[in-house]
Order: sequence, then structure tokens, then C-alpha cells
Amino acid sequence: MCSVPSELHPPQGPRWTRTLGFRLNAWYAFVITTGLAATYLVVALLTSYAVDRADRQIIVAKLEEYRARFEEPALRDLTFELPPSAISVEDEPYLVRVCDADNRALFTHVPASGLVFDESSLVVVTSEDRHMWTRVRSVGDGRTWTIGSALLSNGRNLQIGMSSEHSDRIVNRLRETFVLGFVPLLVLGLVGGAYLTRRALRPIQDLSRTMRAIETSGDLTARVPDRGAADELEDLSKVFNRLISKQERLVTAMRESLDNVAHDLRTPLTRLRGAAEAALSRPPQPEPEQEQHDLREALADCLEESDRVGAMLKTLVDISEAQSGLARLDEASFEFDALAREVLGLYEYVAEARGVKVTHQLEPGVVVFGDKVRLFRAAANLLDNALKYTPAGRAVQVLVRSEDGQAVLEVIDEGIGIEAEDLGRIWERLYRADKSRTEAGLGLGLSFVRAIVEAHGGSVQVNSEPGQGSSFVMRVPQKRETPPADA
Ligand code: ADP
Repeated sequence: MCSVPSELHPPQGPRWTRTLGFRLNAWYAFVITTGLAATYLVVALLTSYAVDRADRQIIVAKLEEYRARFEEPALRDLTFELPPSAISVEDEPYLVRVCDADNRALFTHVPASGLVFDESSLVVVTSEDRHMWTRVRSVGDGRTWTIGSALLSNGRNLQIGMSSEHSDRIVNRLRETFVLGFVPLLVLGLVGGAYLTRRALRPIQDLSRTMRAIETSGDLTARVPDRGAADELEDLSKVFNRLISKQERLVTAMRESLDNVAHDLRTPLTRLRGAAEAALSRPPQPEPEQEQHDLREALADCLEESDRVGAMLKTLVDISEAQSGLARLDEASFEFDALAREVLGLYEYVAEARGVKVTHQLEPGVVVFGDKVRLFRAAANLLDNALKYTPAGRAVQVLVRSEDGQAVLEVIDEGIGIEAEDLGRIWERLYRADKSRTEAGLGLGLSFVRAIVEAHGGSVQVNSEPGQGSSFVMRVPQKRETPPADA
């Protein structure tokens, strides 16, 4: 079986008939019309049933009344047709008929309203305890007559008939009432439905208008207006607004990041170019050893600068990979205190050179399952910063402990601290608080720390008081929530 692409069969009809509003209104109209028609049918059926019951009760009463009269000795055994005056029924609006067992009429009173019908269609009763019912259509006025038959004691039948005129009137009145009420009800239903649909769809229209504005202009500041309601659509608008705000922040951060990369790459590249240019424009030295020495020095400078660029680009790639989940973590179990000890060892001479006293308190046996090399680099970044931003004569403290199933590494310093407005931004790529421009750095260390720790399912926090010092806390789960899949 081959499928046909939907574009080959575009939806039929004008555009407005394909809108959700139109379809909802069409459904409203259908449901209201069907509902009203069904109500009318049920009411009409119940009414005609009730009217029919009432008619039969009247006929039964009349049967009893006339049975008593035809059981009187004078009339009991009449053998020929009596004139209606004989039993004074002239004014009676009912058919009164007496017939023998062969349905031959012995007495017939047809009311003034007139009834012409085929008498042979009447049923003759033979059992005493039952009334038989027949419906006949009068040939004259087309009305239906309900005729009840009862057995008299001499085997003859007494038949009383009643015209449907009365019940027809009731049913007709009912129909008229319905037709009169139907139109305004339908109009009211449709107008009300259209109003409610419009109201209900307004948030969706607002939403699509905002989305279209963002799509066409690329302006991420557009937001869906707040209606102040507390329904599902308002919730949808709020989620959308939050999503766009997030997107806006992300795009802004990316733009800034790109600007920063361009800015931060310019310096080492200019220096690289400068070093090469200076070496080339220098007049040749008379002694070949001196010449060689100068050229080597220039090349070493170029190497250093290109290393800086390379390191920066590598860290940027590492961060991106860790953030996007593409980084392949080389995980194994190891002790966190041992890792901290190695980091402390690496920075022992740096601390000494800077005149910063480093103390530690490492809880033994805090086992972590993770990528030791990357976590080492993360911890080293924290200690590196602490030493960089702490003046000589002050102290730095490194703590390792286990807390709520997490391995915690805390680096506390008595350094320059971080201003409140910088606190939220220090985790961004290439962001450096102005004050720290005097210190060498790329502004990538903390972004790397956060990306790596979060790739391990952990978190990193900072507390800082300008002029007093900072504390960076890195938390890594000791056990993975989902064990690694078997290779
Ligand atoms: P950098 O290479 O500039 O140190 P980081 O990403 O490691 O980059 O840090 C970002 C910024 O956060 C730094 O430029 C500095 O302003 C601030 N910062 C980080 N650690 C500390 C600290 N221990 N004390 C004071 N400021 C800090």
C-alpha cells in the first residue's frame, strides 16, 4: 500500500471554515438542534401516551355506564336497530354501538362530529374480563377514533368510541410551542456558543500571535499577555513565556559568550602577531649565536601565546561537551580525600610563593564514583581561584566530608570576595569580575567546574562577602542513581 503525502490533498473549503472556532460552533449547532429535536420527540411521545391513557379511562367509564343501561330488561334483548332517541344518547359526543357476536349492529349512535368507518374492522370481544381496543380512521375528517369493546351478559358487544380531536389539539399545541421556542433557543445557543468559543480561544490566539511575532521578527522580548485567570490555557501561556524568557537569556548569554571569545582571543593573537613581527623587523645580529637566541625567544613567545589560545579553545569544547551530555566520563570509584590531597600537593608551592597559608580537614573514606581526572581539574580550579584571589598573609581552607549521600569538597578563602551583582554571573563562560582583571585567567574555570560537577549529577554553590572571602562548595553524589549500562 502506498501512502500519499498530505500536501497533495490540501484541506478543502474556505480558510475560515477550517478554523477551530467555526468547527466548534458547527458542533454546538448540531448538538443543540439534535438535543431540541430529541426533547421534542420524547415529550410528544409521552404526551400522546398520557392523552391516550386518559381517553381510554374515559371510554372505560362510558362502557360501564352504558353496560348498566343495556343490561336493563327493556334493552337487554333488543332484536332490531333502536333509534338513538330510545336511550337518549343524541347529545353524546361518543360512538355508542351494540352488535351481536357476528358484529352485526343492533344499535348505533354516531356523534354529531361525524364518523364514517368500516364497521367490519371492529373487534368483537368474547371474554368477559377484557376490553378490546381498536383504532379506526374516519373517512370524513381523517381523525383517528379509539374504540373500546366490552362483552355484555347476553353475549353481545358494547362499543364506545372517542375521537382523537382532543388529543390532536394537545399534540398540535405542543408542536407549535416547540417550533416557537426552538428558533429563539437555537439562536441563543449559537450566539452564546460563538461568544464562549471566542472567549475560550482568545488565549490561544494571543499565543499564536506572539509566536508568529517572534518567528517573523526574531524579537524574543514578545510575551503572551497575562489575563489574570487561573485556567489551563493561562498555565500554557505562562509556561510559554517562561520558555521564551529562558531562550532569551540563553541567546543573550551566547551572544555575550561569542563577544567574549572574540575579545579574549584578540589579545593573545595580537601578542602572537606582535612577537613574530618584532622578530622579523629586528635587524640581523652580527653574531649568529645572538641571532639564534633572539629568534628562539620570539618563537617561545609565539608558542606560549598559541598554547593560551589552544587551552582556551579546549576548555570551551570541554565545557560544551559536559553541558550537552556528550562528554564521555571515564568513571570509577575513588576516594575524594585522596583527590583533595593530590590537588593540595599540586598547589603547595604556588601557595607558598603567594604567601597564603593552606589548611585542610579531609574526612577519610569518602568514596565517589566519577571521572577522577575531570573532578581533579574541577577541584584544582577552585583551589587555584582561592589562591589567586586571596592576598598574602591570609588563609585558605580545604574541607572534604560526606553529607546526605554526597561527597562534599569545600574551598574557603579569606580573599577579596565577590560583589553581589557578579555572584550570579561568575559561572558564565568567559565572565570575569572586573576586579580580577589584574589576575591572569580566562574566565572559564568556574564554567568548567559547574559543567563537570553537573555532568556527574552534582551541584556547586558559592557564598561570598566582598572583602571578607568566599566559600565554594562542590557536591557530587557518592552513588549513581542509575547504574551504568553493561557494555
Ligand atoms: P578566572 O580565570 O577569571 O579565574 P573563573 O571562571 O575561574 O575565571 O572565575 C570567574 C570569576 O569569578 C573570576 O574572574 C573572579 O572575578 C571570580 N572568582 C572566582 N573565584 C573567586 C574567589 N575565590 N574569590 C574571589 N573571586 C573569585
